[in-house]
Amino acid sequence: MAKLYADTNLQYVKGVGPKTAEAFYEKSITNLEELLQFYPRTYEDNRIATKITSLKPGSRVSLIAEIYSVTSNSHSRRHELVIQDNTGRISCSFFRLPYKGYFTQFQRGFKIKVSGTVSLYRGKIQFNHPQLSLLKKGEVLKDKLISVYPELNISAIKIQKIMNSALEAFNNKENSIALKEVFPLWLRKQFNILGLEETLLNIHQPNIKEAESFLNFKTSYQKRIIFEEFFYLQLHLALKKYGFMEKEAISMEKQPSLISRFLKALDFQLTDAQILAFKEIESDLCGTKVMHRLLQGDVGSGKTLVALLSVLTVIASGYQAVLMVPTEVLAKQHFKTAFSMLENLGFKTALLTGSIKAKEKKQILEDLASGEIPFCIGTHALIQDAVEFKNLALVLVDEQHRFGVGQRNKLHLKGSNPHFLVMTATPIPRTLSMTVYGDLDTSVLNEKPKGRQPIITRAIYENKKDKVWEFVLKQITQGRQAYIIYPLVEDSEKLDLQNVTDAYEKLKNIFPKDVKLALLHGRMKAEEKDVIMEEFKNKSIDILISTTVIEVGIDVPNANIIVVENAERFGLAQLHQLRGRVGRGIHKSYCVLISSFKSSKESFERTRILENSDDGFFIAEEDLSLRGPGDLSGLRQSGLPEFKMANIFRDVVILKEARQAAFEVIKKDPSLESLDNQNLKLAYKKYSKNFLA
Ligand code: ADP
Ligand code: MG
Repeated sequence: MAKLYADTNLQYVKGVGPKTAEAFYEKSITNLEELLQFYPRTYEDNRIATKITSLKPGSRVSLIAEIYSVTSNSHSRRHELVIQDNTGRISCSFFRLPYKGYFTQFQRGFKIKVSGTVSLYRGKIQFNHPQLSLLKKGEVLKDKLISVYPELNISAIKIQKIMNSALEAFNNKENSIALKEVFPLWLRKQFNILGLEETLLNIHQPNIKEAESFLNFKTSYQKRIIFEEFFYLQLHLALKKYGFMEKEAISMEKQPSLISRFLKALDFQLTDAQILAFKEIESDLCGTKVMHRLLQGDVGSGKTLVALLSVLTVIASGYQAVLMVPTEVLAKQHFKTAFSMLENLGFKTALLTGSIKAKEKKQILEDLASGEIPFCIGTHALIQDAVEFKNLALVLVDEQHRFGVGQRNKLHLKGSNPHFLVMTATPIPRTLSMTVYGDLDTSVLNEKPKGRQPIITRAIYENKKDKVWEFVLKQITQGRQAYIIYPLVEDSEKLDLQNVTDAYEKLKNIFPKDVKLALLHGRMKAEEKDVIMEEFKNKSIDILISTTVIEVGIDVPNANIIVVENAERFGLAQLHQLRGRVGRGIHKSYCVLISSFKSSKESFERTRILENSDDGFFIAEEDLSLRGPGDLSGLRQSGLPEFKMANIFRDVVILKEARQAAFEVIKKDPSLESLDNQNLKLAYKKYSKNFLA
């Protein structure tokens, strides 16, 4: 047989035919080296001694048990098999059977082998669609961990066979399959990173003695792989960060007298956190390197004001600034605040959104291009090609998680190396922000303005609704205003509209005639929304019935009560954002979270977390730990890539190490030129295709 090398096409591995090869090619696995580095995603626990009571949600297992009961009803589509051993019982549930009559082979008392992933349903563990097989007479099982590979267009068993022959080839001294180590030696020593070959031999064929560690992703082999995955992402962030830092910036001048005039016009004092954050930003703006900063602060912490102080510094230095926000309503609100405050100091502000009339828009575009207007606030409309600036020096993005990376970058390109400030009331827990925002410096507003009273929050079931309306009415009689919120059902805007419109009609009959109600939803024209928001602000509307369009940023201090219907359908972080619409003025504020009877006990209990906490970060963390690491949709949005083995919750410690290592590498060798780093550079290039920007 011909001698095999690392770069030999995988077709030469025993058992790989053209069709199989094709399946690997699709995943960019073409040669022996890449094949060997196609790692198991997890392991199936095939130890004979596994007992039902020891099962944990999320783990893949096989076990032997006895059938306790079989229920199969094709009308209700309920097919359930309960199995037991001497420690307990667990249900195997099917919505669809593999074939008609499948269940007839199973009878109470039979011994059975069950393989599947343990999942959690209404607080109880169960198997969904596991594989079942009756135990044959005399069949014996061996303790084993079975490698589970990422999905390909070939069967799991076939993949395992191919991996075995690949490993055989690797171990065969007649071949010379040397693998490229990506990490320099110093790094492996400092961070305890195992060599590639040792990792590889063990990761595919785990030693049963280390089963527990393997199943918990705690072996040094897994660490090596997880570290590597994190490392590329952190390297990416480090490169970005040092890339910015190298760029020469336009320096602004400090504006102490204008700033103090601006602050005197306010009827409150800045919080210490606001002062500190502005100091940090100011020093960046007036420095020689481009600012790349995240302003992080819980809802209501006063980010807008810090942003406006930064804008003032820039425009008074003779340059332009732009602020992009996710909704028209919010753009309008920011514009109103900024306009009057900056006008008094002699600076013009423009508003640019999709609904600005053509003629007016033309004028604004001209004034921005000529530099006549130094500051513009707007929505996505700002990133159109027609928008040009004379000398844009500061780009601000509010509620940045609402924008894609591409949109942010597009705005950034409107200037030549402008300073960059993004704001967020982030729903991303502290432990994770480094994976997503690792390239940004951070300023934190960790303090709310003085005199804010805590928002009294109650989670209730829908049977107490009448009491809630009574309470709302009482607040309104005292001159306050209220929000009543209905959820967005995904993919079904029409249905939402129906929900919220029906509710509006009902509520009109519940409240006395002199209470003024209005409806606000995403399908309305921008002008209609504006009119309603305006009326709500000037108190000609008492109760605003709305979908979540009011979620971000809206600021009406006189509104002191928010009621959320079907609260169980929202994420906690989102509920916290919604709650942030009240508690903005001097009045005692309230938030009522109504769960429908249809909701499960757990989701109701989940909403109760808000009764006891007002800390957005804590809430986000709880939310994530409750919904489980599987649910990363919110994070994906923020530009996080999918990891093959790494898990940002489970592997926080490794994440921190990888971050430190990556930043050290880039500090020593900013463009990865040294000989030591060549393999790393190649591997990074390949991997970084997964990153958005
Ligand atoms: P967020 O951080 O959620 O964007 P905003 O910037 O909308 O918060 O501020 C919330 C409210 O608090 C606004 O009405 C704003 O005028 C007010 N505010 C900001 N800073 C202070 C302060 N230092 N003291 C009192 N009120 C403040
Ligand atoms: Mg805001």
